[in-house]
Amino acid sequence: MRVFNFSAGPAALPEEVLRQAADEMLDWHGSGMSVMEMSHRGADFMSIHQEALVDLRELLEVPASHHILFLQGGGIGENAIVPMNLFGSKPRADFVITGSWSQKSYKEAQKYGTAHIAASGKTEDGFTRAPARAEWQLSEDPAYVHLCTNETINGVETFDIPDLGDIPLVADASSHILSRPMDIAKYGVLYAGAQKNIGIAGVTVVIVREDMLDRAMAICPSAFEWKTVAENNSMFNTPPTYAIYISGLVFKWLKRQGGLKAMEARNMEKAKLLYDVIDSSGFYINKVERHARSRMNVPFFLADESRNEDFLAGAKARGLLQLKGHKSVGGMRASIYNAVPLEGVKALVEYMKEFEARCA
Ligand SMILES: *Cc1c(COP(=O)(O)O)cnc(C)c1O
Repeated sequence: MRVFNFSAGPAALPEEVLRQAADEMLDWHGSGMSVMEMSHRGADFMSIHQEALVDLRELLEVPASHHILFLQGGGIGENAIVPMNLFGSKPRADFVITGSWSQKSYKEAQKYGTAHIAASGKTEDGFTRAPARAEWQLSEDPAYVHLCTNETINGVETFDIPDLGDIPLVADASSHILSRPMDIAKYGVLYAGAQKNIGIAGVTVVIVREDMLDRAMAICPSAFEWKTVAENNSMFNTPPTYAIYISGLVFKWLKRQGGLKAMEARNMEKAKLLYDVIDSSGFYINKVERHARSRMNVPFFLADESRNEDFLAGAKARGLLQLKGHKSVGGMRASIYNAVPLEGVKALVEYMKEFEARCA
């Protein structure tokens, strides 16, 4: 029996994708071997790689000005890889802090240059806001401004992305890329680890504008230097082949679902169901400002925290798994990525209502 998996990452994958991967495991398209066993420079893998790139470009409508790279190192790796690629002539950057992940990005960048906090969404209730552009206090001529467009732990999503003119905007979109259309032209760099909403752990998607490729620090490792990676079509070193293959299957699945507009409508419906039950009484609590509430990661608390273990045990008994909140904030968190079906969210909402009624 398959459960409903609300894990923040690695996370649920579409069942269709898992079945296809299983079918193709021993013999990919008559090649007589698994994708895992293929040379990354052979025609078979090259076609898998190329198709994944084309499908991702189509789904996200990535403009010709931007390269798509498949790297390793994850979102945390990018916290170092970004400054090493952009601090070559101006070793300073600005950070909009909306939660735990942007805080980490800010800290790591300090190893390579000066990091300035341009705005913070922290309140007495923790990270509950997405500061608007008017609140951002940018320093003079930063190399870039960093923003985590969806804070996975705190459940804060930034929907209003400003146009910063000549200043490159760098976004960590790890936990909501592909959940809705995004205007990629607004970003100098957009990166995402795959294990939330793209595929499996091991590959990091980095979308980088052509003019970002000429500013790397001399110490930047070649395997992480975007220019080198771009010039070699992500084949400078051996890429994470199987993770790229799974991403490609997810891209095809997303196209069959109707693309990102269709996913956005579905994700809005799923998120609304969950936030509505949270807001319907004082039993469950989410303090994130409404316009900044994440559609992918929904953290919530039970007003009476002594019931936490009971809540989780009851959920588990119904096949609703991985609902415990991140240890740094406590409470609960339901991650409802693209691959979590509407029925899963409905089952969770039913359970939450029942649990509340049972405790009354
Ligand atoms: C999960 C996550 C990361 C970290 O990803 P790793 O693959 O563990 O490096 C970074 N940023 C965000 C927003 C995330 O959700």
